[in-house]
Amino acid sequence: MSGTMMYQPLTTGSLIDHAARYHGGTEIVSVETTGGTARSDWATTQANARRLASALDRLGIPAGARCGTIAWNNRRHLEIYFGVGAGGRVTHTINPRLTPEQLIFIADDAGDEVIFFDRTFLPAAAKLCPHFKTVKHAVLMGPRDDEAAGMIEGLLFYDELLEQGDPDYQWPDLDERSAAALCYTSGTTGNPKGVQYSHRSLVLHAFGANQPDGTCISAMDSLLPVVPMFHVNAWGIPYIAAMAGARLIMPGPKLDGESLMNLINDERVNVAFGVPTIWMGLLQALRSSGGKLPLLERTFVGGTALPPSMIDAFREEYGVELIHAWGMTETAPVATLNKLLHKHLELSQDEQRRLRHGQGRPLFGVELRVIDSETGQLQPNDGERQGNLQIRGHWIVESYYGKAENALTEDGWFDTGDIATLDPDGYMVIRDRAKDIIKSGGEWISTVDLENIAIAHPGIGNAAAIAAYHPKWDERPVLICIRAEGSTVEEAELLASYDGKVAKWQVPDRVIFVDSLPIGATGKVQKNKLREKYGRILTE
Ligand code: ADP
Repeated sequence: MSGTMMYQPLTTGSLIDHAARYHGGTEIVSVETTGGTARSDWATTQANARRLASALDRLGIPAGARCGTIAWNNRRHLEIYFGVGAGGRVTHTINPRLTPEQLIFIADDAGDEVIFFDRTFLPAAAKLCPHFKTVKHAVLMGPRDDEAAGMIEGLLFYDELLEQGDPDYQWPDLDERSAAALCYTSGTTGNPKGVQYSHRSLVLHAFGANQPDGTCISAMDSLLPVVPMFHVNAWGIPYIAAMAGARLIMPGPKLDGESLMNLINDERVNVAFGVPTIWMGLLQALRSSGGKLPLLERTFVGGTALPPSMIDAFREEYGVELIHAWGMTETAPVATLNKLLHKHLELSQDEQRRLRHGQGRPLFGVELRVIDSETGQLQPNDGERQGNLQIRGHWIVESYYGKAENALTEDGWFDTGDIATLDPDGYMVIRDRAKDIIKSGGEWISTVDLENIAIAHPGIGNAAAIAAYHPKWDERPVLICIRAEGSTVEEAELLASYDGKVAKWQVPDRVIFVDSLPIGATGKVQKNKLREKYGRILTE
């Protein structure tokens, strides 16, 4: 017997309509690619999204067509998110720092019919456009620009498209299971794979991630997604912000510590989102300038392990709470978030502090389990036994874009490729990525643990641990570090700081000091590159 309630499809159009209807005047602040700051609001974002959808109709772009974006976090990109998706097409956000070959592979694989790009990427777009197989229209995200028009044949201009568009355009009726957005994994091992999010999964993710024990965003908040819109939909923040009617600050291209410090303070940001390297940069800028963050309350940090020493530094020196979260492209992405439980109020500050180090607990809507890597048996949730982390839920991938086969285990779980533990309350700790973990003489060593200890040393700016080949033990840990400004720390002193924190056999065999680490466009250290360079250093 059916219930007797209305059915309304869960669509991204309903999110932007809600934001425009009830939070129309709430500001969208956008640092522009060409410099300066533009101010828009949710009503304008909705009207422009509608204009864009009608312009795409006029260009003959069919329902379901993929429309690529190569762009920073800015107001036009936000309009494209909603205009393309709610208009029945698919926003395909592309990571601009990929190699030209990868960019072409991804646009072809997705079958993108339109490519929108920011002015910054004009030279790249001019080189790439002749190679795209399916792209019918390239659109510069800005006003008419004669120099650009001379570089790409038939180039269209976003602002002109909007001028011709209809602000009262009505969204088509969509099936909530139809696709709204497409994002590719970074492809560090082989070609990237596409994950195509449905309207339903994006809306449920926004509901699920924004619970009080989730991001807890309200219409009183002023949000700064530093995480790029091409990195898993900026972790869903554009959708969550529309649902909550929050104020949104789009940081544009300048993501260095000083620019972020000024933006946070000038625009009264109280909640921010980004990977640890972003907050490392901010911490350095704050310390060297003596700056403060009087209004910033909390930042959500994920994408790679958040060093505990950073949580302490922000809390003690600046009164900012860093909240550790975990997810991946295949999980839309937010799946766990670290908040405490009522019973933890009785714990000492130090015990509470330790609990906050892990990646947190599953949101409603996702389930986790840990499977023994060797036996395939389910591990108990004892916080001790580690294994392959598997997940299922409303916003978890089922199959990759364009691939007929299902991406799940036989019993319907997605294997994340991460090695983790789960405790009885569901607190999850990522020990490592399966492909990064070090196997020394048959025993596992977590690179995350080794890095956290190094980064906690005041003389170290950043660190990455990798497995290097060893003739006897097969693999041994090697640590690659950047010294903090002014530091002269040497190997022996740094390794002494591992005493009592890990077993003796887990201490790195070698420390290599470098000036910089290879960081990918999503802000993660590219350990595959480090392994290529230093993977045989112990036998050289
Ligand atoms: P990529 O493979 O490009 O890094 P994703 O952004 O989808 O693609 O990354 C997902 C992976 O990032 C996870 O499988 C996990 O290994 C890592 N990750 C994400 N958040 C965290 C976190 N809080 N702590 C440790 N690792 C994390």
